[in-house]
Amino acid sequence: MRIDLSKLKIKIEEMPKEYQGLGGRGLSSHIIGKEVPPKADPIGLENKLIFSAGILAGTTVPNTGRLSVGAKSPLTNGVKEANAGGSAAHKIARLGFQAVVIEGRAKEPTLVKIDKNGATFSPASSLKGVGNYELIERMRKEHGNKISIVSIGPAGEMKLKAASVMVTTPDFHIRVAARGGLGAVMGSKNLKALLIDDTGSSPVEAKANAKFRESIAALSKAILADPLGPGFRDIGTPVLVMMINSFGCFPTKNYSLGQFGGAEKISGEYMAELMKKRPNAQPSHRCMDGCIVGCSNVYTDEKGDVIVSGLEYETIGLMGSNCMIADLDSIAHMNRVCNDVGVDTMDTGGAIAVAMEAGLLAWGDGKAALSLVKEIEKASDRGLMIGNGCKFTGEKLKVKRIPQVKGQCLSAYDPRGLKGLGVTYATSPMGGDHTAGIVLPNPGNPSYHPGSPSGQATPSQFMQTFMAAVDSLGLCMMAGMPLLDPVPQLSLISCVSAFTGESLDEHYLEKLGKSVLRAERRFNDAAGFTEKDDRLPGFFQEEKLPPSGNVFDVPEEEIDTVNRF
Ligand code: SF4
Repeated sequence: MRIDLSKLKIKIEEMPKEYQGLGGRGLSSHIIGKEVPPKADPIGLENKLIFSAGILAGTTVPNTGRLSVGAKSPLTNGVKEANAGGSAAHKIARLGFQAVVIEGRAKEPTLVKIDKNGATFSPASSLKGVGNYELIERMRKEHGNKISIVSIGPAGEMKLKAASVMVTTPDFHIRVAARGGLGAVMGSKNLKALLIDDTGSSPVEAKANAKFRESIAALSKAILADPLGPGFRDIGTPVLVMMINSFGCFPTKNYSLGQFGGAEKISGEYMAELMKKRPNAQPSHRCMDGCIVGCSNVYTDEKGDVIVSGLEYETIGLMGSNCMIADLDSIAHMNRVCNDVGVDTMDTGGAIAVAMEAGLLAWGDGKAALSLVKEIEKASDRGLMIGNGCKFTGEKLKVKRIPQVKGQCLSAYDPRGLKGLGVTYATSPMGGDHTAGIVLPNPGNPSYHPGSPSGQATPSQFMQTFMAAVDSLGLCMMAGMPLLDPVPQLSLISCVSAFTGESLDEHYLEKLGKSVLRAERRFNDAAGFTEKDDRLPGFFQEEKLPPSGNVFDVPEEEIDTVNRF
């Protein structure tokens, strides 16, 4: 479905030949590559905003309801895809669409609702400046509980570079397509919210039903066999806090230390114990229908009022240890404000840490950090600075150590001890991003050394290719990681084959992932990116990371082999 907001018209078209077989990130990146001029202004009329359901969205294949949001990024100036769980992608697919492409710009803030009859447009001036939590409540009252809501907060309306896009879960918590400032693109189109109602739609059918059911059973078994699964289910992604801290790669004090003295106080284990004492807290929560892992959570205060769902590892790393804040409640409240105003917790956390380094507020001062985040909504000078992300804030405050690549703040892993991930940060077309291809030590592969300067390009390339395919299928990363080995991968390929009716070989994921990376790389090259943009900031090479003393020393020649095919 193409929605022209300038004319308030829709056009429904068959999937063009060049996009067939694509979904999720693959589809959005190909559309951007084909239809958006590489030098376009990201918040100008030529940019397009794509909401793309994964190839397997709308089916009963577990964990396949991620919604890809794509556009040329105001943060990186390159191609961008950020994805989120929630209920939108399944609903879009059940209405018969692979993607909703937003073009043009409405004259005033606008609400678009799509359902089985097409799309309706209504003015949303009364929602101007309204935060995401209030918006969700108002939409539910007006449109009922069958809808999914994709929205922006005031940060998107103000077109801030760290603005994100929110997607509701089936029980109306918020998931976030956080990265790359895509909320600013939505704001630039004057689209305040997209509502999706799939009432009366038909289930998505597979071409080969019996084989499909069999393949789903095998795939589910493979996902549930993941030895890390119970940890993610019982403690959520914060289970990574103590693990990454023990590796000496937990970003601390604006990436100047690899271990945090207060790590235990913000660990998943501590959080799980806290939740036992708090009414209504849920240590395991499913962000979409069909999830069989349940890595999310519902974090409440002492009275049982929900603060945020879910409180994730990346937020804890960037807003916690990296700012020296050892208090989960402070981090959760900052997370809530970020969700409400609509900004990425990672870039915002990175911005607060560089502001602390500049002396604007004290290290570890959770109260001051929370009030700084609240400034975004007030549009004060400091708020606008923080809302434009880590790089903008660091440059404005003349901070030398800014942990970003292609304008995007790194996520919560220091690349000096995880050098394969450092190569991903450097070379991903997405900018510094762990979901683009995380490389972690693997007990099944003891010959891989994450701190070695050599042998890092190959695992980074493998993971970037794999994740580009996973993001195109709409599969969540937690369900994708147990499928790294060829045997469980076959059950996933078999699901796609039974669903589409095509015969696919064992190289399907690799071919899909490479075609996506190729399209993204081509766009970024044409937008003006060069090998110089595939580098980590100098301080990662020059400053030894305590306590390991590691520096990032992967040779540039090795880095430059990645994504060049
Ligand atoms: S595993 Fe986590 S991220 Fe994935 S679908 Fe379930 S709750 Fe969402």
